[in-house]
Amino acid sequence: MDNLANFLVVLGALILLFSLSPVNHLRRRLPHSPCRTAWMFLSALIVSFFVGYLLYAYLFWGETRQLSELLVPMVFFLGAIFVFVVCTFAAKTADDVTRLCHLEHENVTDPLLGIFNRRHMDRSLRQEAAKARRYGLDLSVMLIDVDFFKQVNDTYGHAVGDRVLQSLAQLIKGSVRDFDMVFRYGGEELLVLLPYTNAQGAQVLGDRLCHWVADRSLLCGPEDKGNEDIRVTISVGVSGLNPDLKDEAEMVARADAALYRAKDNGRNCVEVSDFVCDGALVQQNG
Ligand code: GH3
Ligand code: MG
Ligand code: MG
Repeated sequence: MDNLANFLVVLGALILLFSLSPVNHLRRRLPHSPCRTAWMFLSALIVSFFVGYLLYAYLFWGETRQLSELLVPMVFFLGAIFVFVVCTFAAKTADDVTRLCHLEHENVTDPLLGIFNRRHMDRSLRQEAAKARRYGLDLSVMLIDVDFFKQVNDTYGHAVGDRVLQSLAQLIKGSVRDFDMVFRYGGEELLVLLPYTNAQGAQVLGDRLCHWVADRSLLCGPEDKGNEDIRVTISVGVSGLNPDLKDEAEMVARADAALYRAKDNGRNCVEVSDFVCDGALVQQNG
């Protein structure tokens, strides 16, 4: 009887010690935050319980004579198992949630440019257009194409071209509001979805982006090309959501048509979609 009681308490203490491993694993994955502090506090609690178990075993060593006196060691033992199971599940759940977040991120991100991909664009366009129609909100899109990008590839190679595109994507992402969304539309074309913004507002932003991009060096070129600054310009086509549009795909198609006009007009400029209203062709201004 006595041996069993000692065994249960000492084994319980060891199980508590093992519980520290999943807790530390979980704590290391957390950023410095109140939650991380809380898990540190839990580690300290487990250590103090461990000391308590050992103290109990030391004080009551050889004192258990009846079956009823096994109750406390048994509760100690089951308590330790409970702590171990909860800590292990918590760590496992944190691992699964982290993996899910990574998958979700990969699912919506373009691997080269680090902005949203085309799949997420289709979904976001649908959602934002439905929201804008339901609540009568403004919505517009901006289609951006790099001017003469083939020349950049031909001059510096595709690897440098990739880095120029990355730099441009980050510049544009950093230049719009938090709730505007920047997607890779395809190749060297980006689409910016602008909730709460009409075509006129999008045109102002497009003009600003054209100037910012043209004024900046996106990358320092390779040594064999004299480390010259690589600069590009962009052309922008803008379109806003209107009642005459069949769906959001048509809004994008109109931005595309406007982009073609920007190219025809000499590039490095913004063109706004035209739309038919009451039979007349109207310059869209929101
Ligand atoms: P413009 O649009 O002004 O008419 O001229 P452009 O030279 O940009 O025209 P075009 O659309 O014909 O060429 C786009 C080029 O962009 C060709 C293609 O190789 C390059 N490109 C597309 N995607 C990528 C990419 O991911 N990385 C690199 N390095 N190049 C890309
Ligand atoms: Mg293109
Ligand atoms: Mg181009």
